[in-house]
Amino acid sequence: MIVAKFGGTSVGDAIAIRRTADIIKGRLARQPVVVVSALAGTTNALIAAAEQAAAGQLVAAITQVEALRARHLDTARVLIGTGADADDVAAEIAMLFDELAHLAEAFSVLGYLTPRSLDTISAIGERLSAPIVAAAFRRLGIDAVLVDARRVLITDATYGKAEPQEEAIAAAARALIVPLVQAGRVPVLGGFMGATKDGVTTTLGRGGSDYSAALFGAALDAEAIEIWTDVDGMLTADPRVVPDAQLIEHIRFDEAAELASFGAKVLHPNTIAPAVKRGIDVFICNSMRPEGNGTRITFDAPTFPVRAIAGKGNTVVVKVRSPRMLGMPGALRAIFDVFARHKTSVDVVTTSEVSVSLTVDEGQPLEDVLAELREFGDVDIERGKGIVALVGAGLGDSAPAMAKAIAAVGDTRLHMLSLSATGINLTMIVDADQVQPVMRRLHAAFFSPEAA
Ligand code: ADP
Ligand code: ASP
Ligand code: MG
Repeated sequence: MIVAKFGGTSVGDAIAIRRTADIIKGRLARQPVVVVSALAGTTNALIAAAEQAAAGQLVAAITQVEALRARHLDTARVLIGTGADADDVAAEIAMLFDELAHLAEAFSVLGYLTPRSLDTISAIGERLSAPIVAAAFRRLGIDAVLVDARRVLITDATYGKAEPQEEAIAAAARALIVPLVQAGRVPVLGGFMGATKDGVTTTLGRGGSDYSAALFGAALDAEAIEIWTDVDGMLTADPRVVPDAQLIEHIRFDEAAELASFGAKVLHPNTIAPAVKRGIDVFICNSMRPEGNGTRITFDAPTFPVRAIAGKGNTVVVKVRSPRMLGMPGALRAIFDVFARHKTSVDVVTTSEVSVSLTVDEGQPLEDVLAELREFGDVDIERGKGIVALVGAGLGDSAPAMAKAIAAVGDTRLHMLSLSATGINLTMIVDADQVQPVMRRLHAAFFSPEAA
């Protein structure tokens, strides 16, 4: 059994969905379970419509919704044609758009959104794409069956970033997916969404369909998890920032996880953990060029000082300074406990005897955290920062690579610098507008033909 996940552009229109069907036809012997994202751009449009409605712009919201309805109906019509299956899918689409219109009206009356209502609305993208893809597959000769992912991907009620409940997922996968596969059928599930055990819709957070695929892969003990996307695989940097980024054919789980956490959007940061737990190889492949080899992610891969560079903006630096911390046992634990209690995750940390600097993503509520931290000493926050990460399993052991990295940063101001304990990730905090220039300079230093 394999799990094959297709991202938004891989199911973005009728042509893309046909290509996806061809990829699955070539894999029937491996018993594929298919996970699909929403049609490209749909999740953004749904969230925008919800925000417009809540801001009182109901007409604009309904206009967005109508454009989405037309696109989904058109895609379904082109792929599925006419007949009973086409009627069923059209009815499903109509039902979901009615639900959406009602939600928009409700948000405009309420004037605000809750994380729970945002999950309900953003999951509609995958609730639309999955039945369209399943019916398109049937029309193209694949014995596909739609399985509502919310019956399998059971989570807690942390809306917006729900925590999967592994045992419940494994039990549901055994009950609902395995018999279909054993009968030679191809289950199709929407990614990104789940539900609480009481059936309330949740999501795993933006980009979460990769994570869904890994969770299903682990629950089914799949032999591989394939992430089909719009680039050739994991590259030495984001190709939108570094146009000459190169394909990485084979990379270690830990390196891929670091890259995903520090901005390599090609993989949702949580994807690796379920795969590691079961030792399931992950592949990243290009659905527009399926003949390529893609990237293979496994425990063992050749070790290089630098494998790739990632970066992200929207970083806030929090600095806590306190002479009282000098020699005080447990001070760090107390500080991190504040972040833990407020469920605020910390990315990068540097310390001295009397101070701690750490970074969090912009957008996380910080007020309560800061108020508690002030009990320890002076607290400063600096917004408008970004992180650049240089990742390679041999980095910590390579003095020349480290020297080259520092040289490439040049006179760019570094706010923090940290080498991970495992020695595979050198992270630098720079001003947000310096993230891309620094990524390009590091890439040129390590990957340009002259650098080789
Ligand atoms: P999907 O919709 O298939 O999930 P995403 O847009 O989430 O696709 O992820 C693919 C995108 O990730 C690529 O188009 C690319 O711009 C971006 N990306 C960022 N860093 C990397 C990297 N190191 N390697 C490959 N792609 C990357
Ligand atoms: N459709 C969701 C998003 O855009 C999930 C995904 O595509 O992975 O965030
Ligand atoms: Mg993605």
